[in-house]
Amino acid sequence: MAQSPDRYVSTRGGAPATDFVEALLRGMAPDGGLYMPETWPTLSPDTWSAGRGYVAIAQAAMAPFVGDALPAGSLDRALARLVAGFAPAEVTPLVRLEDDLYLLELFHGPTAAFKDLAMQLAASLASEALAASGETLTLVTATSGDTGAAAVAAFANQPRIRLIVLHPHERVSAVQRRQMTTVEADNVLNLAVRGDFDDCQRLVKGLLAEESLRAQGRFSSVNSINWARLAGQIPYYVSAVSQLAAMGETRAPVFVVPTGNFGDAFAGIAARNMGLPVAGFVAAVNANDALARAINEGVYARKAAVETASVSMDVQAPSNFERLVFEASGRDAGMTKGVFSDFAKTGSVALPADLLAALRTEVSAVSVDEATTRAEIAHAHAAWGQVVCPHTAVALSAARGLDRSAGPVIALATAHPAKFGRDVAPVLGFDPDPPKVIRDLGDRAERFEVIGAEAEEALAAVRGFGG
Ligand SMILES: *Cc1c(COP(=O)(O)O)cnc(C)c1O
Repeated sequence: MAQSPDRYVSTRGGAPATDFVEALLRGMAPDGGLYMPETWPTLSPDTWSAGRGYVAIAQAAMAPFVGDALPAGSLDRALARLVAGFAPAEVTPLVRLEDDLYLLELFHGPTAAFKDLAMQLAASLASEALAASGETLTLVTATSGDTGAAAVAAFANQPRIRLIVLHPHERVSAVQRRQMTTVEADNVLNLAVRGDFDDCQRLVKGLLAEESLRAQGRFSSVNSINWARLAGQIPYYVSAVSQLAAMGETRAPVFVVPTGNFGDAFAGIAARNMGLPVAGFVAAVNANDALARAINEGVYARKAAVETASVSMDVQAPSNFERLVFEASGRDAGMTKGVFSDFAKTGSVALPADLLAALRTEVSAVSVDEATTRAEIAHAHAAWGQVVCPHTAVALSAARGLDRSAGPVIALATAHPAKFGRDVAPVLGFDPDPPKVIRDLGDRAERFEVIGAEAEEALAAVRGFGG
């Protein structure tokens, strides 16, 4: 059978090929690998011509991955719901800062961070799939803030779906907590765990392994290893090139992506594989620099995670690095499996020279420290009157370090600064103005349950929720 972008194979080669719905509802492939489309579709160049709207772009970029796995009209309905939650007509406006330097603003959605763009789509598409099959789905996720907020906003009141979110008690910002806990939805359970983010992740892993919870329906996680989430991030790269064209700029841009799990950056690489003219990708990481060390030094090695101001990027084992290795190795599932099972065992893998050379043609990587991040927040305000969040500042710092003589550089702005006032205000001397979605949180009642960091407590809470 000819290869097709709506069929999915595992990066570890040990799972049967499946369709978009299975990849969406399962998340991880059954052999422990990540799903990848069998092949990349090719977009027509007029997809990114000047004046193309977000919905038309997203329809063209995503339909090949969905194929006929969902009821007719599902993607159109999902896109209509998505854009209704974004104020700007462009959905993800491209803002010119100075010659050949731009910001792509991804934070105009319901929770003021870029994760809304893909999470809203994944929720709508999952709900369409479940309505067609008659199944139910329970999702469980650990969050340090942004993922949980985006997931709650996306999945609240979706029929046939329940969402359980574990956050570390008293360790997320008040805005992030209220985004998760003030939503009125009986299908959402917020658990505040007396512990840290790693405790939350450990509890989620335990819940996912609990056979008895599977008896009633599908049971999986919402994290950035889900192919559907990556697919939902491809359109804004295409939209950025279309918006550049509308400004009269036809040279291919370099994208600088503030990176944690490498999902956002991999979506950009997917867009380039589909024909989008891109001159390069730079993954900008904070002091948690495993990815940058892998690309720059050739050894993928875990270090203890450190807490930074760009907290949503405090990741030491970026999950989507596996997709990049699979792609750069010429889709060698044996090599991919070898690298990541060695890494899981020993925490350190030397990358073969030809793999490393191929990785470096896909992406380069820069690590930005905390002092430089703060200086960049100050610079963005002084130079352009822009108030940026710490994640965006990491990308902007890396972007300003690039040679711009060959073409434009676009830094991705991933969160609204008001979500991170605690880090931005001390630098600028004032609190960032909150957008309407944050002002509207007001003093609505919060709903969450505090539990200890033990597996039995998590299980009891989930069972009490009807799991
Ligand atoms: C999640 C997140 C990132 C990192 O994205 P990845 O896809 O994990 O690389 C960057 N900035 C913000 C604000 C985020 O929430």
